[in-house]
Amino acid sequence: MSPAAPLTLPADFTDKVRILSDTECWPWLGEVSSWGYGVTDKGRMAHVWAYALHYGEGHIKPGYHLFQKCGNRLCMNPKHMRLRKKW
Ligand SMILES: [Zn+2]
Repeated sequence: MSPAAPLTLPADFTDKVRILSDTECWPWLGEVSSWGYGVTDKGRMAHVWAYALHYGEGHIKPGYHLFQKCGNRLCMNPKHMRLRKKW
């Protein structure tokens, strides 16, 4: 377990993500959609799943969009993610 990981993450997440330090991007190693985002086996956006694992499923409110402020669509580091209101 990486010392940077604040929580105990499920094996199905840690198997698919290279967890590095808080400041680095955590590359997604699983399937990638045609629009360049990681997707889980269940067809969910991988970064949304990563965020929910760290902050809770209810954290992304309706009308908000989760994006990676580092600009890396395959980054799974929750500290690199921000919520932005949809318009
Ligand atoms: Zn990143």
